[in-house]
Amino acid sequence: MLGSGGRGVRLGRVALGAVAAGAVAGAGWRTGALTPGGAAAAVAVGTPVFATGGLHWASVLFGFFTLSSALSRVGGARKAAGADVAAKGGRRDEGQVLANGGVAAVAALAAAAAGGEAAFPAFLGAVAAAASDTWATEVGMLSRRPPRSIVTLRPVPPGISGGVTPLGLAAAAAGGAAMGLIAALGGGEGSGGSRAGVVALATVAGLSGSLVDSLLGGTVQRVFRCPCCGVETERQVHGCGATTVPVRGVGWIDNDVVNLVGTAAGAATALVMAR
Ligand SMILES: [Zn+2]
Repeated sequence: MLGSGGRGVRLGRVALGAVAAGAVAGAGWRTGALTPGGAAAAVAVGTPVFATGGLHWASVLFGFFTLSSALSRVGGARKAAGADVAAKGGRRDEGQVLANGGVAAVAALAAAAAGGEAAFPAFLGAVAAAASDTWATEVGMLSRRPPRSIVTLRPVPPGISGGVTPLGLAAAAAGGAAMGLIAALGGGEGSGGSRAGVVALATVAGLSGSLVDSLLGGTVQRVFRCPCCGVETERQVHGCGATTVPVRGVGWIDNDVVNLVGTAAGAATALVMAR
């Protein structure tokens, strides 16, 4: 849509996109959902999305951000144990924002460069995967059953990557479906052929992305152990204050790298389905 006007129109759209992204990121920072760096990254991700597409692009990103922020506030006490295990706390920093939104932003830039809607399925698949993973984590931590490793099927600490619960899997499907529903209501049904088609596309892309996320999280993602408490964690400094020691995984593959690959898998799945 960017290519349809002159230079002035294009600059106007980019400015409008930056204002919209700034408003959303500012709200995220004020409510404690984003760190200052996370808010800056959200402007970088949101600007091309809000500037490029129609209502369906903007509403999918806005829906992901507001619903995921709301979910992270649910069940605070029961999540406390998992929060000490997971790599980072409830406030998203720039690494998490770029890992979850980077592929979506690239899809928006591709749409701006090429024009048309060919990149929309990739965008939707990437956001659906980010939503699936976020919802699975946030809702899965409320599960009364201990998570099991997707690789070994043995019980693992709540919050550790690669651990899955039936509740978390259901939440992953719901997260992808929710993004598809928002896309369909916003007028993005073309990518799936129909409203039901775009919901199915986002659900499958979301599940595929979170499956890749869990598989990588349970195999190559780095895991540490706290020498004081003896528990496994993704943190380099444990909640107790002790510096942790690596126990397995590849040193540079942290949760952000795994999330980035997961959203890319969601985008690829959606592109294949849209053909
Ligand atoms: Zn400790």
